[in-house]
Amino acid sequence: MRDVCIVGGGVAGLAASIFTARAGLETLVVDGGESILARNASLENYPGFPDGVDARRYLQLARKQARNAGATFELGRVERVEPVEETAPEDGFVLETDGGEPLEASHVIAASWPDSEYLTPLDVGRRQRGSKHFLEVDDGGRTAVDGVYAAGRIAGEPHQTIVAAGHGAKVGLAVIHDSDANFYHDWVTPEGYFTDRGRDVPPGCEEIDDEDRRARDARARETMRQAFEEPLEQRPTMHPSVADSSDE
Ligand SMILES: Cc1cc2nc3c(=O)[nH]c(=O)nc-3n(C[C@H](O)[C@H](O)[C@H](O)COP(=O)(O)OP(=O)(O)OC[C@H]3O[C@@H](n4cnc5c(N)ncnc54)[C@H](O)[C@@H]3O)c2cc1C
Repeated sequence: MRDVCIVGGGVAGLAASIFTARAGLETLVVDGGESILARNASLENYPGFPDGVDARRYLQLARKQARNAGATFELGRVERVEPVEETAPEDGFVLETDGGEPLEASHVIAASWPDSEYLTPLDVGRRQRGSKHFLEVDDGGRTAVDGVYAAGRIAGEPHQTIVAAGHGAKVGLAVIHDSDANFYHDWVTPEGYFTDRGRDVPPGCEEIDDEDRRARDARARETMRQAFEEPLEQRPTMHPSVADSSDE
């Protein structure tokens, strides 16, 4: 049984997967479509991009980062989640998808804005607001069912990319803390930061020397140079009702 299955490979799900995978938890992201962010025309309020960034490029880079961290991906819509053993949710969950074999995981993160229908077999706490359902969660994204979490817009977070990403990271950290992973912070520090004070490098942290730092910087610059070299041909996805009316 894998450690974490994340339902939804949009903004929150990708951020959560980067944290859980980097902490050594076996992480699978199941995605059944495209992020709502694919409808954006120019992402201009995500810190770190002073003149904005193409939202589809941002999603591509976040997916690449999740893969680099060790997360794996599967295409498909999750249709149902149930405990492996009805009376023992601590034994994990089975996820049925619209294609492929059922998937098993000890922790499930719902990052699947706007769909949480597949969680109805579990009493997680769904709340209707207008035409949408939101999941009730605590400060770490934990639902009423142990082992099931929610991240991003579906957890009622403000409808902004940086907030969804930050919440995904926070929920990923809650999963790490609730699992057996030996973890302190996900930090990369200069060589000697801990050890020159006679301390062990804490779990989850890494000390790197200057040569390694320069090599990582070179790799990072090359990745970004290639990513931003050419404009993307993909256009934003239009709202379905506008797209439908223009087909008539
Ligand atoms: C037109 C538009 C413009 C926007 N512009 C901006 C902006 O300029 N700045 C800004 O900060 N924010 C913007 N946003 C908001 C931003 O896109 C969202 O707040 C953010 O994407 C929410 O992240 P999320 O991870 O919760 O959901 P998403 O990014 O939508 O990810 C959800 C993922 O779950 C998948 N999924 C859903 N159901 C299932 C299922 N059953 N099984 C498997 N996968 C499933 C979906 O396919 C999707 O990939 C905009 C939104 C729209 C609609």
